[in-house]
Amino acid sequence: MTDRSDTAAINAHSGAPLWLLAELTYRCPLQCAYCSNPLDFAGVREELSTEEWLDLLAQAREMGAVQLGFSGGEPLVRQDLEQLVAEARRLGFYTNLITSAQGLDEARIAALRDAGLDHIQISLQASDPDVAAAVAGSPKAHARKLAMARAVKAAGYPMVLNVVLHRHNIDQLDAIIALCDELGADAVELANCQLYGWAHLNRAGLLPSREQLEAAEATTVRWRERLAEKGRAMDLLFVVPDYYNDRPKACMGGWGSIFMTVAPDGAVLPCHSARLLPMTFPSVRDRPLREIWYDSEAFNRYRGDAWMQEPCRSCDERHRDVGGCRCQAYLLTGDPAATDPVCSLSPDHHLIEAARREAEGGVGTVGELIPRNVHESRVFCRS
Ligand code: SF4
Ligand code: SF4
Repeated sequence: MTDRSDTAAINAHSGAPLWLLAELTYRCPLQCAYCSNPLDFAGVREELSTEEWLDLLAQAREMGAVQLGFSGGEPLVRQDLEQLVAEARRLGFYTNLITSAQGLDEARIAALRDAGLDHIQISLQASDPDVAAAVAGSPKAHARKLAMARAVKAAGYPMVLNVVLHRHNIDQLDAIIALCDELGADAVELANCQLYGWAHLNRAGLLPSREQLEAAEATTVRWRERLAEKGRAMDLLFVVPDYYNDRPKACMGGWGSIFMTVAPDGAVLPCHSARLLPMTFPSVRDRPLREIWYDSEAFNRYRGDAWMQEPCRSCDERHRDVGGCRCQAYLLTGDPAATDPVCSLSPDHHLIEAARREAEGGVGTVGELIPRNVHESRVFCRS
């Protein structure tokens, strides 16, 4: 923990937040077993009102934030989304809607475009409708996603698709990319599942084996070559799971460095997973956003490097990866200030190696994953 003099020194080096992720709601019609929402989301009831969101958008913009993502849950559940987009546009934000496309139709796309929305990203679960239905917990969601991907493109937006990869869909990557190509996607993020929230709960059933991962990377390379040969502009971004790296990512570019998330009830977080940490985060209902960002104990706790333990504290690489992810360190070791076990220098790296070995064994079926829904979440509200 930082003392007051440390905090003052860190504050002197804290820039403005550039990114704001507005998690408008935890409500969502889907039940993805890899959802990064908190396990106890069902206990969060009082969402910020329209007026509260409008006020905090103005505060964030005044502080210097320029990129704004509307996320959730499913942000389209909020009927004031168009109003929030319009105000964000007026304030000068670049706006991105991150959606499952449930609740989207042509009229809503037109309304969002008229409000000034810059960008829409739709998630796909799979190419196979049965796998998609099993993962999303909805037999109809897949068809809507495909229809809305086409509608978004027809409305003049670039079609940006996000596919969360895991052991139950990664072997179908060839067909997934072919589907994205057929849909006319402009960019596809092939994001291996990050293991937080519900994904961590389902980790054994989601983490692919190394063999699966290497085959998927090779498939992506082949597709990049094929697309280049036919002059087709479709960016393919392949995001490797942390568990198969030997160094951690510089999570969020550093704690409280450029990124902040506001949760549906107004809690302000340094990243969308941070709510799982054993600490309290301040709310915009109680304090101005500026004060939270610059002066709160929560935002200063892991800024800089004074909080680090060995081996990070004396490591030459500490300014490159900031010791990795605090959420991952906590989930795996119980100590949020530990070196991220993804790092091969961590004394806890054997936990990652054990998870990799477990993944080699082939664990469970897609039907055995625990769905992210209110019923399951209530179990964690009680615990
Ligand atoms: S990951 Fe799935 S369940 Fe979670 S918010 Fe997104 S669409 Fe909903
Ligand atoms: S020991 Fe810490 S700072 Fe060094 S590479 Fe590993 S995580 Fe990064």
